[in-house]
Amino acid sequence: MTTAIVGAGLAGLARARALSARGEDVVLFESSERPGGVVRSEKVGGYLLELGPNTVRPTPELWRLVEDLGLESEALLADPRLPRSIDVGGRLHPLPTSAAAFLRTGLLSTRGKLRLLTEPFRRRGIPSGETVRDFFTRRLGPEVADRVVEPFVAGIWAGSSDRLSLEAAFPALARWEAERGSLTRGALADRRGSARSSRSRKRGLLSFREGLETLPRRMARELGGKLRLRCAVESVDRVGRGWRISQGAASVEVERVCIATPARQAARLVEGVAPAAAAALSAIPHAPLAVVHLSAPARAEQGFGHLVVPQAGRRILGAIWSSCLFPGRAPADRALYTVFLGGTRDPEALALADEQIVEVASRDLSTALEIPPTFEPVRVTRYAAAIPQYDLGHVRRIEALSRAEDSLPGLSFAGSYRGGISVGDVLRSALAV
Ligand SMILES: Cc1cc2nc3c(=O)[nH]c(=O)nc-3n(C[C@H](O)[C@H](O)[C@H](O)COP(=O)(O)OP(=O)(O)OC[C@H]3O[C@@H](n4cnc5c(N)ncnc54)[C@H](O)[C@@H]3O)c2cc1C
Repeated sequence: MTTAIVGAGLAGLARARALSARGEDVVLFESSERPGGVVRSEKVGGYLLELGPNTVRPTPELWRLVEDLGLESEALLADPRLPRSIDVGGRLHPLPTSAAAFLRTGLLSTRGKLRLLTEPFRRRGIPSGETVRDFFTRRLGPEVADRVVEPFVAGIWAGSSDRLSLEAAFPALARWEAERGSLTRGALADRRGSARSSRSRKRGLLSFREGLETLPRRMARELGGKLRLRCAVESVDRVGRGWRISQGAASVEVERVCIATPARQAARLVEGVAPAAAAALSAIPHAPLAVVHLSAPARAEQGFGHLVVPQAGRRILGAIWSSCLFPGRAPADRALYTVFLGGTRDPEALALADEQIVEVASRDLSTALEIPPTFEPVRVTRYAAAIPQYDLGHVRRIEALSRAEDSLPGLSFAGSYRGGISVGDVLRSALAV
């Protein structure tokens, strides 16, 4: 049985690996000259830059993959205790990570803190159709929704909490409420469950000495000749009970095909065979993003980075203090910061020239860190469609994909628009063949 996989990002590589491990023939087509998709690590003048993901949780599936690929000695785990901060009201506040810290934090007023205590007694919401913002406002109050949840949604999804669907974007929280009636009880039950399996679980954030791209590079090396680079698939057609994969005049016929490209490219590939799935895929909104790497003289501060509450005088979404997280990211006397602009909060930021983007990033970073704006630009990277947004129509769109898979045996879809956007989620769903 031969399976063609289209797209060698993490989803396509992981699916190809899982099928190969079962003894199936696979062929993986990638349009660009390198595997890994948005996972890109680049060395620029003594700096090691992550142009795509930076903060990756070592989920059990991901760590098993690291072990299977023999990459443990290359792996780096950032200290999980590094503080995260939130920029609001003119200064950085440490993000509270325990109930006691929430009661002490300057992020919330006394009224906001008292509101938190009433969480277990709040009414249940509507089972579907609620935004992330409405859910948190209802359960934890408007201050938590504005000052904690909104900056997090911007930092992780480059999105806005008033557009994301709770059910699609945070299914575990929707389940906690449905099953336990409260986030507090759901979190406690979840903690008891995960405590049993936590002894073998890795903590912190994962990277590699040579950057995250080590992972897709090694997966590609293992696949050898099964991976075909510079092969842009142009169409996918049904032939008998199988599939024809075409690139220009060339084509191959296979029993099964997995589309592991971003949603928009996937829509184009299947519009002839699965028009309803194609319409669903092309309707998924995506957030644009600019990633700016800045350097400055090294400082003693330690931290993960900071997220920004929307407020006058700030434009960035947040920053990762990259050289605090992992060694070898900057020369010894320099610090490296990765700053994010744009997202659905501020798509116009992508229209700015590189120099303006650098200026905004330097200004907001220097205000937050209370240091002079003496940053030097290292690189500006732009994504027109960085992260799929699981908005209120998302669950229905994914149901359309599942219907296409059911009615067209051999066709499947994998990628960050389905089952979670994080590296861990993408791998988990791609490996679940
Ligand atoms: C800037 C940025 C920062 C992120 N930060 C984090 C983070 O800190 N932590 C985290 O967990 N996650 C993060 N993510 C999310 C995570 O990196 C992605 O969800 C995940 O890597 C997506 O993998 P994928 O395989 O679905 O898609 P992609 O990586 O987009 O791969 C799709 C592949 O398909 C190929 N392709 C497209 N069309 C064709 C065609 N016609 N024929 C052949 N090949 C084709 C493309 O060239 C590409 O290689 C971030 C994402 C971005 C963009």
